[in-house]
Amino acid sequence: MKTAFIYSDDFAKYDYGSGHPLKPLRLRLTYELIKAYGLLSIADTTLIEARPSEEGDLLLYHTRDYIELLKAANRGLEMPGEEHYGLGIEDNPVFEGVFEWSRLVTGASLQAAELVDSGEVPIAFNISGGLHHALASSASGFCYINDPVIVISSLLKKGRRIAYIDIDAHHGDGVQYAFYRTDKVLTVSLHESGRYLFPGTGFEGETGEGEGRGYSVNIPMPPSSDDELFVYAFNEIVPTLIEKFRPDIVVGQLGVDSFLTDPLAHLNYTTNGFCEVVRKMKELSPKWIALGGGGYEITNVAKAWTLAWAIMNNVDLPDELPEAFLEQYPLEGFSSRKLRDDEYQEKGARKEMMREEVRGVVNGIRKTVFPLITPPT
Ligand SMILES: [Zn+2]
Repeated sequence: MKTAFIYSDDFAKYDYGSGHPLKPLRLRLTYELIKAYGLLSIADTTLIEARPSEEGDLLLYHTRDYIELLKAANRGLEMPGEEHYGLGIEDNPVFEGVFEWSRLVTGASLQAAELVDSGEVPIAFNISGGLHHALASSASGFCYINDPVIVISSLLKKGRRIAYIDIDAHHGDGVQYAFYRTDKVLTVSLHESGRYLFPGTGFEGETGEGEGRGYSVNIPMPPSSDDELFVYAFNEIVPTLIEKFRPDIVVGQLGVDSFLTDPLAHLNYTTNGFCEVVRKMKELSPKWIALGGGGYEITNVAKAWTLAWAIMNNVDLPDELPEAFLEQYPLEGFSSRKLRDDEYQEKGARKEMMREEVRGVVNGIRKTVFPLITPPT
């Protein structure tokens, strides 16, 4: 099995500003932990230096006036009219290098797509990607350029059939909207219900329109959902969808802001449920472009994506974090010296209510969406 890891030290060079929850430093921390475990020097793995995308690639989805404004905002100065493009507000600050950062992240995702689509590797991972909220002419939810949409659009041009699976705590709204009216892309998002969390969408009734009816699938989860419910919902829905749809390539968004200790969302997953789902995603994917996503507790991010990368490479890692890594990052908050989280389960009446709710969502999708999905003709 060959794999590619797309990375640049420059990822961590950018700064959304102090107090902003998205810390590009988490990407360096992940890379260093992966390296400390020796996972970049195993046979059949290639480390690829990320390159910025061409400006033209951004136009596969975004409008020219938005791209021009984002480009002008690269100096980190306020731009007149920026608020009309979702820029300069608290979530999406204009910081120095904002355009370069966006091009680099998108470029890395396109490199992953190219390596996988050409058959060079069956799996490639860009931990900086998965910025699923950006809209055609607006930044949204810490995302300026929607790299999953650009990757999928570039593959559609080559006639590929794509399934997008998003397990971030937030609904993958930008990706859903981009492909809402086509049956060439199946989007599936498992997230905390929009009743409680940004962006307030992703309900089970949002199933696509026109030719795309049935090809947008949403699995909203109640707050406090645990690994058991997450794995149950995933297994009840995603494998059958993939079997019916028969994609050429799966694009996976592996956001980890769904974890118990994440400060932004209210889901209670751990590395245990996460790994089970990632393993399943690997099994289901004929070819797999893996992207990062949310994750605001940076030690969770490093641990979870290291585990994901190990799964991609069929390596079973020891649970003790490498000593040299802990010495290198003594202040980053690795409170436990373990790679994996303890098991965590919700209990009691609240759990039963959540179980009922999730079961209802799952059964609804099986009844209404499954019959609409057809294999390629
Ligand atoms: Zn998120």
